[in-house]
Amino acid sequence: MTFEQDTIVAISTPPGRGGIGIVRLSGPRAKEIAEPLLRLRHALAAGQARFAEVLDPDTGLVLDEAVVTYFQGPRSYTSEDVVEIAAHGSPVLLGAIVQACLDRGARLAEPGEFTQRAFLAGRLDLTQAEAVHDLIESSTLHQARVAARQLGGSLSRVLSPIKESLIQLIAALEAGIDFAEDDLDLMPQPEIAARIAGVEAPLRALADSYRYGRIVREGFTLAIVGKPNAGKSSLFNRLLQRDRAIVTAQPGTTRDPIQERLSLGGIPVELIDTAGLREAPAGPEGEAERQGIARSGAAMAEADVVLLVVDATDPDHGEAFETWSKLEGRAALLVVNKADLIAAPPAFPVPHRIVSAKTGAGVEELKEALLQTFAHAAPTGDSALITNLRQHGAIAAALAALSAAARALRETMPHEMLLLDLYQTLESLDSLTGATTADDILRLIFSTFCIGK
Ligand code: GDP
Repeated sequence: MTFEQDTIVAISTPPGRGGIGIVRLSGPRAKEIAEPLLRLRHALAAGQARFAEVLDPDTGLVLDEAVVTYFQGPRSYTSEDVVEIAAHGSPVLLGAIVQACLDRGARLAEPGEFTQRAFLAGRLDLTQAEAVHDLIESSTLHQARVAARQLGGSLSRVLSPIKESLIQLIAALEAGIDFAEDDLDLMPQPEIAARIAGVEAPLRALADSYRYGRIVREGFTLAIVGKPNAGKSSLFNRLLQRDRAIVTAQPGTTRDPIQERLSLGGIPVELIDTAGLREAPAGPEGEAERQGIARSGAAMAEADVVLLVVDATDPDHGEAFETWSKLEGRAALLVVNKADLIAAPPAFPVPHRIVSAKTGAGVEELKEALLQTFAHAAPTGDSALITNLRQHGAIAAALAALSAAARALRETMPHEMLLLDLYQTLESLDSLTGATTADDILRLIFSTFCIGK
């Protein structure tokens, strides 16, 4: 079904020069607009790529050679007629092709409009449209895989039976009200309660998956803290596998937190190497270090995970234990470094990992342990993930309305009241996949897209 009457055009490949650049047209006049710009040996045919010469509309001379693919609606990305002209990737050339299309009556596409049309035509639901965006934005393969699962409809598949049971409950209650005089048995209270709980449990699991989903999408920050010379910079470099932080035998060299990004099991990690946790020397000479220490305290307070490094050869771990006790309740790992310098593992009263930043011993296990910090939040197998705040907000609203329904039931309110809350739940779930979405939500989502998508 086509909702839009105008034909849109945009450069769909990234800005700048490249081997190939693609101009995409979508809408009822896509083929009619594109054809006069091309000299084709064989006419455009649905689902087939054709070699073509692109003509300069001003001079009529050949401007480039291109491969042109025509997708006949509804079998296209947008469900409309689509023409893709893959020319050489020169911004000037692609700009000229777009201009020629505009001159022939196409309109420049708004950001995300191609995907929006796919949504409006019902080819993608909202969570899938968001997944297109996530897929393009992904910076690790793991993120891409999660987005691809969502694009494949994983979230919608999980939601649809939940919605189905909710609708069934609503229908049963409505029937009970409408046909009360006809002696139709009202659903007993415990059964209604059980059905509400049956909707709530999987929704709660989805809401909980956001903790991990957010980490997949945005990654986490990891602060490395500890006394000077414990080997923080060396461990930082080991984790990054290159020499970024300056390692010296002089205590107090790492003054400012140094940040780097790495991918740990496909999850982006912002690694922060901090100044040593200790008193800076008094007077002006200690100023730079004092500032560094203050900043490292802030980095530690804000980090999602803290690695506290201690030197295995250090006879005094009092300070480390004090820091460790302050980290209670946080995602934190205690790391005993310089394992290569000691004969026997130290007897530590708290759980710890033993590594050597110098030899690399224990570092792979440490990375594994770091990922495990979030593993309890990671859903298994092919299950769906809530990856953005909009989705999380919709599920949270659905859950809130559902608890209100459960309360109304406990307080033996009339079923009409209960129904209001259940409809509210349904509306929140609808806003997740887009069945009854208001225009402003749509605009919000598609405005984060760039032109040509
Ligand atoms: P930071 O002040 O905590 O950042 O510590 P550095 O990473 O600068 O290391 C301090 C000193 O300890 C340097 O001389 C490092 O070469 C040394 N060092 C760090 N890790 C190890 C290790 O695992 N084994 C050994 N033998 N020396 C290490």
